[in-house]
Amino acid sequence: MDLFEYQGKQYFARFGIPVPPGGVAETVDEAVAQADAAGYPVVVKAQVKVGGRGKAGGIKLANNADEAREHATAILGMDIRGHVVHRVWVERASDIAEEYYASFTLDRPNKVHLGMLSAQGGVEIEEVAATSPEAIARLAIDPVRGLDLETARRWVDDASLAEAAREQAAVLLCDLYTCYVQGDCDLAEINPLILTTEGKVHALDAKVTLDDNATFRHPEWAEFAATETEDPREQMARDRGLTYIGLDGTVGIIANGAGLAMSTLDVVNQAGGAAANFLDIGGGANADVMASALEVINSDPKVTSIFVNIFGGITRVDEVAKGIIAALDRVAIAAPIVLRLDGTNAEAGRALLAPHLSDRLIAEPTMLEAAARAVALAGG
Ligand code: GDP
Ligand code: MN
Repeated sequence: MDLFEYQGKQYFARFGIPVPPGGVAETVDEAVAQADAAGYPVVVKAQVKVGGRGKAGGIKLANNADEAREHATAILGMDIRGHVVHRVWVERASDIAEEYYASFTLDRPNKVHLGMLSAQGGVEIEEVAATSPEAIARLAIDPVRGLDLETARRWVDDASLAEAAREQAAVLLCDLYTCYVQGDCDLAEINPLILTTEGKVHALDAKVTLDDNATFRHPEWAEFAATETEDPREQMARDRGLTYIGLDGTVGIIANGAGLAMSTLDVVNQAGGAAANFLDIGGGANADVMASALEVINSDPKVTSIFVNIFGGITRVDEVAKGIIAALDRVAIAAPIVLRLDGTNAEAGRALLAPHLSDRLIAEPTMLEAAARAVALAGG
């Protein structure tokens, strides 16, 4: 589970990591009250689980209550790359002398924790990695031995942080490591970690991914789960008992069985398209299940064609065909549907569907041909 910045900062604070004082707000009035409490100048920051908020206009400096009101009004409700802002975090503005990058994550192939530290913070770390990889000081940490202060001191020297930042940064990195391990994070990232003009080092941003496998150890995580704003498509699918994962493409996919659904994603890719979702209707491909699946896919405005890929085993294709016909009676589908039906009772299934075929409901003999057709219909 990914945390919002404000949750990440509150998580950091539990482990003694310094963060600017601030508060969260869901309304403009609350935001102004938080700004008054934090003391001006403040920054008003959009809380969405996507980076680059600054560039998108989701982070604004306010020198007084009027400006705080103005910025909170603009930012609440804003759409940042598909994420609607429901909350802002308002914190005391920092005077930045230097911006650094710091993170801990798991290096799976090497079975160690990986610390990354750079004096070039505030920009995407992928960008630093691409343009000046030598500017990132990497530290492999044996999970049994952990990170001690001596090692952290050598690490900040390696990364060439400003002299004035080094001791505070070394202490902070040890605390961040503790947060990462004891707090069961998959990722604990601070970008930027700053040195202020007053000579203080603190976390200006927070990106935390919690390890869902550790949820049982953390009853306090329930508060984070409560604020998870889910993909509305996934919510709708869950309400209907479907195994669905939203993706970014334009070809809606319905398949029976997780393996076939995965293969369907591959074959759509191979045909030059991109899937809008993963959806496994399992064994019970009756009219109800098929109608639910089509409803969920139909609710996705990005979908411009639908690929129904069924290989009957225990599931009989004639039953699936009846399901499709009944579902189409119940749901008006915006996108054309391409069918590939094979396996048990496929002949009977195709015969049932034959009178219903049109340029909106197309049958193709093989999975590859069906994928190519669906991708062509999806366009661009
Ligand atoms: P992101 O764009 O989503 O990564 O959001 P950040 O929290 O990292 O903020 C982006 C940038 O806004 C930072 O790199 C800073 O340059 C700037 N910024 C954020 N907070 C402050 C602040 O308190 N004072 C100043 N001067 N700049 C800030
Ligand atoms: Mn950032």
